[in-house]
Amino acid sequence: MGSVRLSDRDRAGSAAGSRADSGASGRGESERNDDDGGATRSKRLFFRIRVAILLTILVGVILYAWGDARSRAARNDWSRTLDVGIILVNTGPSGSLDAELVEALRERARALGDRLDGQLHRYREGSPPFAFEVFALDAEGERAPAPPEDEGVVAALRYAWDLRRFTHSLDERSGTADRRFDSRIYLLASPVVNERRKTVEGLSQDGGRIGVVEVELDRTMLDFALFVVAHELFHTLGAPDQYGVDGHPKVPDGLADPDRLPRYPQDGAELMARHRATSEHQSVPPESLDELTVGATTARAIGWQR
Ligand SMILES: [Zn+2]
Repeated sequence: MGSVRLSDRDRAGSAAGSRADSGASGRGESERNDDDGGATRSKRLFFRIRVAILLTILVGVILYAWGDARSRAARNDWSRTLDVGIILVNTGPSGSLDAELVEALRERARALGDRLDGQLHRYREGSPPFAFEVFALDAEGERAPAPPEDEGVVAALRYAWDLRRFTHSLDERSGTADRRFDSRIYLLASPVVNERRKTVEGLSQDGGRIGVVEVELDRTMLDFALFVVAHELFHTLGAPDQYGVDGHPKVPDGLADPDRLPRYPQDGAELMARHRATSEHQSVPPESLDELTVGATTARAIGWQR
C-alpha cells in the first residue's frame, strides 16, 4: 500500500511539472519569470495560510487541554458538589432491564451519594461531594473497546480514540451529549449468566473524566455495581488502587480501619481496595454500600485530606 501511495504522489508531482513547462514554452523569458514568480508567491501564500490554520488549531487544542486540565484539577478542591452522570447501558435484549430495576438503581445511587457524604465528613467540612444522576438506554450487544494488550503509545492513542467514539455514541443516544458532567461512568449491564458467579469489571482514565463498569445486573448486584462505579469515579479523581497483585487489600492502606483490634475481620471495605479483608490474606466483596469506606490514603489522593 505504501508504495502505491508514493507513486501516486510522484505522478501528481510530475504532472504539475509538465503543466508548468508547457505553460512556459512559447512565452518570453521575463513573462516566464513573472509566471514562476506568481506561482511561487501563491505557493507561499497557501503555505502561510496553511501554517496559520494549523497554528490556530494547535493553540486551540493547547488552550482546550489547559482549560480542561485546570477544570479537572479543580474537581479536587471540593469547593462544590461534583456532578456525576451514571449512564446505564442495557447491553441485553431491548427492554430486558425493567423500569423497577432502573428506579432501584436511582435510589441506591442516592444512597451512594449519602454514604460518600458521610465519608467526606470524616475528614473535612463541606457540601455533599457528589450528585449522581442516572440515565438509561438500550444498546443490545454493545461492548466497550478492549484496553490495549501492549503498552505502546500508538495502541494507547488508538484505544483512547475508540473509547471516545464509544462513549460519545452512548452520550448521543442517552440524550446527555450536551450535559457537562465532572465525570461520567458508563454502567454496561447485561443479564446474569451464572447465578452463583455474577461479575463486575471496571476501567477508567486516571485523572480523566470517563469510567466504564461492566456488570451482570440484577437486584442483588445493585450495591456492588455502585461500589465499583464509585471505585472508577475515584480513579478519575486521581485515586490509585489499594489492592495487590493477588487481588487482596494492601495492608495497611487497603484496610477500612487499619487500627482496629483485633485487626481481622474488618467491618468495612476500603473503596480502592474493592474488598473487605476478613484475614491477612483473605477478603470478600462488599455486600452493601454501608460497608463502603474511604481510607486515609485514598482521602489524601483525592484532596479530602491534605
Ligand atoms: Zn481500580
